Amino acid sequence: MTQFTDLGLAKPILKALADKGYTQPTPIQAQAIPIVMQGRDLLGIAQTGTGKTAAFALPILHRLAEDRRAAPRRGFRCLVLSPTRELATQIADNFKAYAAHLGLSVATIFGGVKYGPQMRALAAGVDVVVATPGRLMDHLGEKSATLGGVEIFVLDEADQMLDLGFVVPIRKIASQLPKDRQNLFFSATMPGEIGKLAGELLKNPASVSITPQATTVERIEQSLIYIEAQRKRPLLAELLADRSVERSIVFTRTKRGADRVAKYLTAAGIEAASIHGDKTQGQRERALAAFKAGEVKALVATDIAARGIDVNDISHVFNYELPNVPEAYVHRIGRTARKGKDGVAISFCSDDERSLLKDIEKATRQKIPTFDRRNDKALAAAAAVADKLAPAEKYVDPRKADPRNNVPSELRRKRNRNGGGQGQGRGGQGGGQGGQGAGEGRQAQGQGRNGGRGGHGKGGAQAQGQGQRQGKPGGGGDFRGPKRGGVQQVETRWNPID
Ligand code: AMP
Repeated sequence: MTQFTDLGLAKPILKALADKGYTQPTPIQAQAIPIVMQGRDLLGIAQTGTGKTAAFALPILHRLAEDRRAAPRRGFRCLVLSPTRELATQIADNFKAYAAHLGLSVATIFGGVKYGPQMRALAAGVDVVVATPGRLMDHLGEKSATLGGVEIFVLDEADQMLDLGFVVPIRKIASQLPKDRQNLFFSATMPGEIGKLAGELLKNPASVSITPQATTVERIEQSLIYIEAQRKRPLLAELLADRSVERSIVFTRTKRGADRVAKYLTAAGIEAASIHGDKTQGQRERALAAFKAGEVKALVATDIAARGIDVNDISHVFNYELPNVPEAYVHRIGRTARKGKDGVAISFCSDDERSLLKDIEKATRQKIPTFDRRNDKALAAAAAVADKLAPAEKYVDPRKADPRNNVPSELRRKRNRNGGGQGQGRGGQGGGQGGQGAGEGRQAQGQGRNGGRGGHGKGGAQAQGQGQRQGKPGGGGDFRGPKRGGVQQVETRWNPID
């Protein structure tokens, strides 16, 4: 087994790794670090959770430390582009931790906060800048940032950049970078347009591909519940009351939907917070901090806000609404079962969403075990109360929903100004790009094992989902989450898949 000490990294970096208790590189780190240390371009197919941040941060810091020189005024030696503020903060925090004994400087540039502190941070020059494209373009326009000193350029989560309509700004930024530079390009999937962008940006790259879902997805106990759209909220509250739900992310399709669900849960006595692009930076940070601290049991999020968030010990992912794009299903459920833990992913499906379910099952080549909670009288009564607490959102056909709803407003403005609108393509297709790369075959495998496990329920299509039910064995396999103060749960979770 390779150790960090075998990779030739500078001593202060090894010390920082030891401080964090990291001794062994993850597979992507073992493969990528030597390549990046040589100064080669790299194409990495990997997503958050694989250790990819350190895979680029460690060799970059090594290179910057070995060849110390001052960054130009308002400039930086390394530029990392990230699609979201949260991910930018996370990446910068990683850089700072690994640079703790190196004396190199790290700054973040993203929207939703004041310009002044960012300008001051850039004024004297910085070693590493982690930026979102929109705000960086603003700084370039204002001449408060310059790209002339960039030696290393990292594009992270490139496929999400495409979803957000950032391809045009990225090309503009890249055109201002010095020709002689090292490029590192990371993406979880490689849709055609991203492959094209990689081809334009990278010179003779080495490529490294890591597919964490091979192990992750198999450990996730997936299920799906058919439910009327207007009864989703009480059903969610019922499931969240289960003691096995320690920390969960609830995915909604729209920002408004996220707010409404969080409001309903709070009114129902469940600690919840929402996070999406219309929240202020402060609100987003507070929600995330409360979630990480365990003060919030359910973080209700849109896809974009949740993507890339590295929070451990998420026991459950709820797909309150199915995603428009099948591959988002894989990303969403991948928020749980991290770092060798197992996790549960429960999706709700109303009649209008059946076509989305079909797309997901086709793209992931699996059949998700299903349960039917339609026509449940108790939920109907609870739904009536729910409507009083917070009126239900008008249901919008997912295929007609505009994926731009989930784009942080300041980024949307940027994108439009830059002639973008590119984000619409994929989101609106409802499945064209699904199942690429990481998720595909392995999910099928996981399902195969799932399917082989016997449930207690007798007969009936719903009985195929094993174990996660309440009531007497043989009671029909109907999925019933816990009822507060009701019958004790026979078994609250499926057994982990092998
Ligand atoms: P990332 O994919 O970069 O978001 O990393 C996922 C998580 O793994 C982060 O919390 C990292 O701090 C952690 N991590 C990264 N590299 C290692 C390693 N070699 N050993 C243990 N944990 C790591």
